[in-house]
Amino acid sequence: MHTSTADAHPDPRSGNMDTTRYTQQLEPRTSMSLYIDSASHLHHDQEKNLVLTCPHCLTVSHITPVAVPRFEDLQLYRPNQVGLVYMCDACHAPIFLRFTVRAYGSSRIELSPQFTEVERARERFNFTYVPEDVERVFREALNCYTHGAFNAFASMSRRTMQAMFGDLGEAGRLRLFDELNAVRDLADIQPDIFAKMKSVLFGAELDPTSPVPLLDGYEAGILLEVAKDLVYEAYVRKGKLQQAILVRRFFLDETGTYITPLSSAG
Ligand SMILES: [Zn+2]
Repeated sequence: MHTSTADAHPDPRSGNMDTTRYTQQLEPRTSMSLYIDSASHLHHDQEKNLVLTCPHCLTVSHITPVAVPRFEDLQLYRPNQVGLVYMCDACHAPIFLRFTVRAYGSSRIELSPQFTEVERARERFNFTYVPEDVERVFREALNCYTHGAFNAFASMSRRTMQAMFGDLGEAGRLRLFDELNAVRDLADIQPDIFAKMKSVLFGAELDPTSPVPLLDGYEAGILLEVAKDLVYEAYVRKGKLQQAILVRRFFLDETGTYITPLSSAG
């Protein structure tokens, strides 16, 4: 995986100690120094600020370096990227990060402060109100995304929508279509990316032979948020609302302020 900063679409799996979805913002912003010295020791002036979402315990935790590649080995093979092993301070599980080498010096190997998380925290979703048929395919969709299989994720997202159309019927399908348009306006998604999202999610409804377009990591990240929103809107929001109203009715009944229309009551 290349992590060139010139990419128009930054890889969402890449981390950065300045700003990223997966790490905390650093204050104050300084020019960071990260290097391996000739004794194979890692020097990192922002080490105390290195925080990310642990893929094992899912807490936002500081991580501590526990294994650094040998300076001699790196000098010999001069790889473009090096892997470092950290330990989660919260659960002590190993966390693997990949860094790009900036420069091979005679006494130090400079690394870019940007890193890629080799294992990512699982994408989570509350499936409480989601029907089993939809849950089964959407869970797999989220697993595909977590593992960076972005086009498998797109295919499973289409199947998730098909399961939802099957469950919700024609009226539900139209509602989902409206919701997708609402998301475009709310989130201000670029027109070309939105067209792809629409093709992934609804393409098979308009033409069963329509292929699933190929997505890169950035587009998959947007599709993830859109798909989560559609499933949430279709089931979770409604379920929560109905549950809340039920509870409210129950308490009104209990306190006697709810006037039941049934004469047989009581
Ligand atoms: Zn942990």
